[in-house]
Amino acid sequence: MKYFVNESCIGCGLCASTCPEVFSMNDAGTAVAIEGDVDDASLESAAEACNGCPVAAIEQA
Ligand code: SF4
Repeated sequence: MKYFVNESCIGCGLCASTCPEVFSMNDAGTAVAIEGDVDDASLESAAEACNGCPVAAIEQA
């Protein structure tokens, strides 16, 4: 399972606080996901972050 953040991100920071193993904020103030597959241990929190994004900016790849 991989995730990426699209251009709809408004930089609320929710994903980075929900699942910091996968999501972080960049210098531009928007979120980025790690490249590559999400570790099994982080799958649940990553899905929670994805579902919690207020603008549906997190997509599965
Ligand atoms: S939860 Fe969505 S809008 Fe908020 S920082 Fe993450 S990707 Fe961006």
